[in-house]
Amino acid sequence: MRLGLAANRLHHQNEEGALFTWLHYCETGVSELALQLHTVGRTYDAIASSSKLQGYSGLQRYPFGHQGGLMQLVAEVVGMGTPERTLDGIVYLMDPVDPSSIFPEALALKRQCVIHGKPFLSTVASARDWMEMERIHAGLTPDPQADVFHDYAQQTLALIAHDAMKPTMMDFVARNFDLLSRFGSRVGTGTTGQQLNELAWSKGWPKDQVWVQRYNSGPLGGDAQIAALVLNNQCHRAIFFEDPHVARQHEADIQLLERAVTTATYTAVCTTAPNIAQRWCDAAVIRGKHRK
Ligand code: PGA
Repeated sequence: MRLGLAANRLHHQNEEGALFTWLHYCETGVSELALQLHTVGRTYDAIASSSKLQGYSGLQRYPFGHQGGLMQLVAEVVGMGTPERTLDGIVYLMDPVDPSSIFPEALALKRQCVIHGKPFLSTVASARDWMEMERIHAGLTPDPQADVFHDYAQQTLALIAHDAMKPTMMDFVARNFDLLSRFGSRVGTGTTGQQLNELAWSKGWPKDQVWVQRYNSGPLGGDAQIAALVLNNQCHRAIFFEDPHVARQHEADIQLLERAVTTATYTAVCTTAPNIAQRWCDAAVIRGKHRK
């Protein structure tokens, strides 16, 4: 597998940075999965001068951001015709107050991941959780350090779907209802939440209880309300099925939620592609059997 790798300066300027926290937990997984890491210049240089991934041949250097390194990763998410130039996903550890995190290439990187159903991992927690998911699918034994991402009873899950993606969300939840019901609680935007509650009641969830605690509809501020939960460490995982093909009246709110997630980089996991969300649920079930 091949991942693009970049981190904003805050996250690689010293060995306490988020990039090195990720590598601390996932360096072994990188070699176990023989991941090829297409790494933008400054991020590459920071790793090369650290104690991580010493001598690892899968670390490839791409140009600096200002020389188009991130732009090349966008094209490779789309695919450049050969396996060597086609990425399976992106780790981009974002600092929301770094101006480059909202440059067009950064927004396009996220958007093309959503369009092509590839993981866009913008937090340490998302990148760690993804690594464990892929390890499990590769038949490796669970890493106890990743138990924290599967302690559902202690966690709140956010479920949000734009209009064109609501049927996909309903199918996804219907298929994974038992697993998703194990979260301590669930929150959602208004309309998504209403439809999910109706689905849950049709599946026998007690009629006097909601399955999802509903916040406002997205355009009326629901994303901002859920962002506040993420920032206060009251929401730990967001499954957000975005429609990237329409103009969105509340684009600013959508980006606010994404930026809140990156602010909580060590604790918040966000999944934006339905196929990846399903892949995660499948891994969670397999992992659960191992850990019994
Ligand atoms: P909704 O909001 O669930 O109320 O439709 C989702 C959104 O459009 O952000």
